[in-house]
Amino acid sequence: MTRKLASVRRIRDLQPIPDADRIELAYVDGWQVVVKKGDHFVGELVVYFEIDSWVPFKLAPFLTKGKEPREFNGVPGERLRTIKLKKQLSQGLILPLTDCVTTLVIEGDDLTEVLNVQLYEKPLPAQLAGTARGNFPSFIPKTDQERVQNINIQKYIDNNYEWELTEKLDGSSMTVYLSNNVFGVCSRNIDLKETEGNAFWEAAREYNFEEKLRAFGGEYALQGELIGEGIQGNPYKLQGRQFYLFDVYDIENQDYLLPKDRQLMADILNIPHVPYLPTPQPTPDDRDHALELAEGRSYINPNVEGEGLVFKSMTDNASFKAISNKWLLEEK
Ligand code: AMP
Ligand code: MN
Repeated sequence: MTRKLASVRRIRDLQPIPDADRIELAYVDGWQVVVKKGDHFVGELVVYFEIDSWVPFKLAPFLTKGKEPREFNGVPGERLRTIKLKKQLSQGLILPLTDCVTTLVIEGDDLTEVLNVQLYEKPLPAQLAGTARGNFPSFIPKTDQERVQNINIQKYIDNNYEWELTEKLDGSSMTVYLSNNVFGVCSRNIDLKETEGNAFWEAAREYNFEEKLRAFGGEYALQGELIGEGIQGNPYKLQGRQFYLFDVYDIENQDYLLPKDRQLMADILNIPHVPYLPTPQPTPDDRDHALELAEGRSYINPNVEGEGLVFKSMTDNASFKAISNKWLLEEK
């Protein structure tokens, strides 16, 4: 799944900001964005760029504020972050349709590729980057989560969904699998060769994942977050590195285990699981409620703000993430 980072959306509301006469708030789906006053109208179709988009300089030169643009994967541009302007949260960028496309488009169209927008990711340090043994296995889904701002919460409320609430850990995605008698270790995007000093393989050996998967039988992929020294600035201030399981994929059945079965498997195999609430929770009332729940201290290190929550349905594959805005505003 590639993320829809830039898409055609409709402005559903505009609101003034107290004591500001040059800017106002625009709303698209679950997002609030500060825009220049008078530039937009309610009902207008615009292009919305989500936070963490790498926006090409050509599209929005003003983002670099007169400085030479930086480059990401060879594209000069700027990263969109969560910011506050006049005490108002602003997430992402809104541009008029005509600044972006000359073709016919409709609401919902994904313009990420056409506009050459990329997901900004911090470069992986050498210990994590490793050497590719191959592409990420085609028979296992890559780890990803949709943002609560982009989903329709009401349909889950209407269908009485219940959720496993897990802490979203800020590290690096790691997948280990056993399939066709082959044991593999992957970072978020590649299948890694076992090389000296590679953090993912080191962790896989330390946790005895190969032995555990062989003893369990069947064909499974364990997906989790590797956190600690050398990863994402080690926000939890750990010594060494730790793995926390957040998904188990049943390769033969091409399906994820449901939360209860995953938790049980983690117990049986004695694999650390990301922190979770023992009792399933009903769907949050709305996006703001989900974002409120997402704020708070990390269970891994109660002295630091947690990144947020991942909601996973107790009965099917539905899931989404709610990232703490407090955390986003502090993010480096
Ligand atoms: P992001 O980090 O914003 O790209 O969000 C998706 C990523 O969150 C996944 O690829 C996982 O690596 C990571 N993640 C961390 N904690 C969890 C969790 N509890 N459940 C699912 N994914 C998680
Ligand atoms: Mn992450």
